[in-house]
Amino acid sequence: VDWSLESGTIMDGGIRYVVLRADVLMGVARELGGSKPIDFVAALEESAFKQSRDSFEEYAAQGRFGTADFLSSASQIAGALGWGAWSVSDTESSARRVEVRDSPFAAGYGASAHPVCGAICGVLRAIALVGYGRPARVEEVHCAAQGTGDVCRFHIDLSG
Ligand SMILES: [Zn+2]
Repeated sequence: VDWSLESGTIMDGGIRYVVLRADVLMGVARELGGSKPIDFVAALEESAFKQSRDSFEEYAAQGRFGTADFLSSASQIAGALGWGAWSVSDTESSARRVEVRDSPFAAGYGASAHPVCGAICGVLRAIALVGYGRPARVEEVHCAAQGTGDVCRFHIDLSG
């Protein structure tokens, strides 16, 4: 990743990044108000899926994942980008469980009755598509924003 103070850009290959306060990003949901925070989280998931799919295809083409399990490699990249500490476990051959400690999305949103880490769901869908070659259903089964503990739990169903 190339941080250029001169041009004010953060580039990873041809992909531009920006450092943004987590509460600025997730505050958009609160600004929308009403029932729209749920729509915001869903839209963030779709956007994260579409854009990160392109990133993962580029990473894969560059051989950045090596021979390690794709999901584990991608999890390390996520940590380096400030997306929390990801740990992966297999539940069965067609499913994975991912735990994310200190999700910036939960931290940036604050207390919520519903899961707010749609961005992570979207990225996990992209990882499954690029890494395992098939679409996956991803659900955040528990979010730290819902109030117990600081861990978000995701279930990836690869059976589809
Ligand atoms: Zn969460």
